[in-house]
Amino acid sequence: MTENIEQMQKRHEKEKITLQAKCKHKESKWMIYSWAPGHYGGNVRACTFCGKIVEREGITEKDLLTPFDKFEEERGITKTKDDM
Ligand SMILES: [Zn+2]
Repeated sequence: MTENIEQMQKRHEKEKITLQAKCKHKESKWMIYSWAPGHYGGNVRACTFCGKIVEREGITEKDLLTPFDKFEEERGITKTKDDM
């Protein structure tokens, strides 16, 4: 049987879910989470064995800002209500 990439990914996804369900997540470490390459998504603590995210830095108001707002904020150019 020959699988295409999509079928293979689906199979691996299933395996991952099974693995994560069985795992006790004894060891984990903080790492930078990217939801897509180059897109910083905050820090998460993931199990070193199965890769499941066991803890996530709280979703703050910052996460709701556009990347441009975020950039400005990092540069210390934060807008206040008085500026609007
Ligand atoms: Zn685990």
